[in-house]
Amino acid sequence: MKKLTMKQIEEGTGGRLIRGSGLAEVGEICTDSRKAKSEDLFFALVGDNHDAHSYIGQVIEAGSRNLVISDEAALSQAKGAEEVSAVLVEDTTAALQHLAAYYLGLLDMKKIAVTGSTGKTSTRDMIWYVCCEKYKAQKNVGNLNNHIGVPLTILSFEEDTQVGILEMGMDKFGEIDLLAELARPDIGVITNIGLSHIENLGSQEGIFQAKMELTNYFDEKNTLIVHQDDEFLNKERIQGPYRLVTTGFDGKSDYIISRIDDFGAEGIQFTLEHRGQTQRFSLPVPGRHNAFNGALAVAAGAQLGITMEEAARGLSKVRLTDKRLTVRGKNGIKVIDDTYNASPDSMKGAIDVLMHTRGLRSVAVLGDMFELGQTSGEQHRLVGTYAAEQGVELLVAVGKDARFIAEGAKEAGLKQVRYFSDKKGFLSEMESIIEKGDVILVKGSRGMKMEEIVKIIME
Ligand code: ATP
Ligand code: MG
Repeated sequence: MKKLTMKQIEEGTGGRLIRGSGLAEVGEICTDSRKAKSEDLFFALVGDNHDAHSYIGQVIEAGSRNLVISDEAALSQAKGAEEVSAVLVEDTTAALQHLAAYYLGLLDMKKIAVTGSTGKTSTRDMIWYVCCEKYKAQKNVGNLNNHIGVPLTILSFEEDTQVGILEMGMDKFGEIDLLAELARPDIGVITNIGLSHIENLGSQEGIFQAKMELTNYFDEKNTLIVHQDDEFLNKERIQGPYRLVTTGFDGKSDYIISRIDDFGAEGIQFTLEHRGQTQRFSLPVPGRHNAFNGALAVAAGAQLGITMEEAARGLSKVRLTDKRLTVRGKNGIKVIDDTYNASPDSMKGAIDVLMHTRGLRSVAVLGDMFELGQTSGEQHRLVGTYAAEQGVELLVAVGKDARFIAEGAKEAGLKQVRYFSDKKGFLSEMESIIEKGDVILVKGSRGMKMEEIVKIIME
């Protein structure tokens, strides 16, 4: 982060400097009292379960001398309060968001925002690899993609960053609007419209509308890029004052995808055609769906003058963030670790990877997918059917709604199906279920913590 003075923090947050000097300079933003360091600007965020104002004493003791707070009394009572500079605001979370918007105003960079139901992090990472071929680019760390994570990401951008890539997540209406308003991206990317968070958004149409909030502040200088094989993301449905660029198998797409070759755990290759030019791409990450993410990344890079050849070089270096289709091997067993998260689409994508990965027997250990609302049973059943149709040899379903995965698979004719209502049940019998030579896909929603299964298999 570019160094800011407390005077600038006052201005950027819209607060009031109530203690200390406006000339004091701050280094990094910190919101975790356990990690506070001396040059940091500590934001005392107030969450549902924690109020960071109760840690102010600790933060001062750790050496932090600059604070943004909303509770003046809490500061007065803290030990060492007389030594700090503090800006008082009404709401520290809103202040963090305002400061991020203000900070962007001090920098000169292109901003690319990525949203969608699945593949945000993967696409964001690929855009970063593409942009790094030509520019200094930065992106969110980990999955910091919400109303706090995005501002923190922005505030971590260095002064000489030329391209900032922002993954934006949401589970309610208004969340993407808030992030789009503060970040004002030049380019927006929507990966797909799935079913995650349908509980809050009512329908898939609602999910589409919520993602489209990304364009709320767009004008003719902005570009929206979408994967138009998705039934919601096409030129008929999307109209606005901005430029629309599309990717897809559809021959009318601006970037036409063809010839996806799947090399299982080794990765994939695909071809893109754009205005008569054809380019072959090698992606060292598994999953056909990554060709879609890759095409979006190429289209995003092109908006910044990156050629398809340069993009191909960038994409050949991609390493995805951990627990996303990572393949590990031990004792003659191969595990495809996709335990980071799960949705109906990504379950199917991961099953495809399993079927393209060499081994003596294909095994899918699938846990619950959360937040699917009333369609949950049906969606789980469809995953089971899909697994059976694709030829998975042994299916292990683990969790509550996973029962329907097992049912769907059985109905579709798969013989080897096991169901366990929790991980403990499976783990206690695992040794007799899996064998040497198996390729095992392990996947489920974040809350299922399916990585615990991967860990035990690997032991
Ligand atoms: P989150 O909402 O948790 O931030 P995300 O949208 O960032 O998720 P990723 O982390 O990139 O998504 O990928 C999550 C899962 O979806 C992984 O299992 C990945 O293999 C799969 N996936 C990635 N891209 C796609 C896609 N375009 N279509 C279907 N599945 C995908
Ligand atoms: Mg993500």
